[in-house]
Amino acid sequence: MPGHHTQNEQHRRLVLKALLWITLGGGLFFSVINLLHDNWLLALLEIGYAGVSLYLLLILDRTRNLQLLTAIYLLPFFSIMMVALAQPHTSFAVFGWIQTIPIICYMLLGLRLGMYVSLLFVGIGLFVFSRRFSSEQLLQNVEIIANLGLASLAVMVFAHIYERSRIGNEKRLTERATTDALTGLPNRVKLVEVFERERAHVLRNGTPLSLIFIDIDHFKQINDQFGHDAGDRALDHFARVLAQRLRINDLFCRLGGEEFAVLLPGSTVGQAREIAESLRLRLATAPLELASGSLSMTLSAGVASFGTDGHSLDELMLAADRRTYAAKRAGRNRVISAEDAGDTQPALS
Ligand code: GH3
Ligand code: MG
Ligand code: MG
Repeated sequence: MPGHHTQNEQHRRLVLKALLWITLGGGLFFSVINLLHDNWLLALLEIGYAGVSLYLLLILDRTRNLQLLTAIYLLPFFSIMMVALAQPHTSFAVFGWIQTIPIICYMLLGLRLGMYVSLLFVGIGLFVFSRRFSSEQLLQNVEIIANLGLASLAVMVFAHIYERSRIGNEKRLTERATTDALTGLPNRVKLVEVFERERAHVLRNGTPLSLIFIDIDHFKQINDQFGHDAGDRALDHFARVLAQRLRINDLFCRLGGEEFAVLLPGSTVGQAREIAESLRLRLATAPLELASGSLSMTLSAGVASFGTDGHSLDELMLAADRRTYAAKRAGRNRVISAEDAGDTQPALS
C-alpha cells in the first residue's frame, strides 16, 4: 500500500534524523575524550563517523533510497560500538550503547530485518564483552553478563512486541480509512490508490483498463416509500448482489450516497460493457425482501476506458459519469458506453 509505505518512511526519516544528530554530537564529544586518553584509533573513527553523520544529515531530506542510507549509517555505527567495546582501555559502560541496538533497529528497519540485525549485533556485543572480561574474577562476570544479557533481551522483546502492535494498529486504521462503513466496500480513497497502481501496470504492459460508474435509479423514492433504514439495507443488498458477480481483481467501491464504481483491470470497453450489463440484469432479478414488501432496484451505468477516454481517474470518471447521465435521460435501467448511440458528446482525448 503506497499510503502505508510513505507513512512508514516519514516515520523512519524522523527517527534517523534524531539519531544522526546524536551521533554527530556524541561522536565529537567522545573523540575529544579519546584524544585526551591517547586512544587515536577510536578518536579517528569517531571523528570520521561524525563527518559521515553530518553528510547524511545534509542529504537526508533529498534522498530517495532511505533504506540504503540507513544501512550506510547503521553498519559502521554498530561496528564502532563493537570496536569501542573491544578496546582494552575503554570503560565497560560502553556496553550501555548495546541496549540501544534493538530499539534503533526496529524503528529503522521494521519487524523482520530489525530482529535479525539486532540479534546479530547484540550477540556480537555480548560475545566481545564476555571475551574481554573473561580474565577477571569469573563469578562476578557471570553475574554481570547475565544481567546485561537479560536486560538486552528484555529491550529486544519489548521493541519487538511494540513494533508488531504498532504495525497492526496502523494497518487497521488504514483499512478503516479506505472502507465504506455501511456496505463494507472499499471507498473513493481506495479507488484513487488502486487506480494509480493499475495505471502504472497499464503503462508498462499495455493491458486494457476500464471503469464503470453506477447510480441507482430513483433511490429517493425508495427512501420515501420504505424509510431511510430500509434505504440503508437496500444499499447493503445492492453491494452484496453485485459483488457476487465480480472477480477478485475488480475493485468495486462505493463513491458515496447511491453511487458506485467498478475498476476493471484487464477488461476492454466491450468486456466492461458486458460486465455492467450482467450487473444490471442481476440486480433487476434480485429484489430485497422486506416485511413491508418486495423492494426492486434498477441501476444506470456508464462505461469508460483508459486511453480513449483519458489517462487519469478524473477523466475516466467524468466520461463514465456523463454516460450514466445519458442512461438516465434515455429512461434508466441501462448501460451506456462509448459505442452506444446515447453517448452524443465526443469522448475526451
Ligand atoms: P436518479 O434515478 O435520477 O438517480 O434518482 P435518484 O432518486 O436516485 O436521485 P439522486 O441520485 O439525486 O438521489 C440519491 C438519493 O440517495 C438522495 C439521498 O436521499 C439518498 N441517499 C444517499 N446516501 C444515502 C444513504 O447512505 N442511505 C440512504 N438510505 N439514502 C441515501
Ligand atoms: Mg446519485
Ligand atoms: Mg440515483
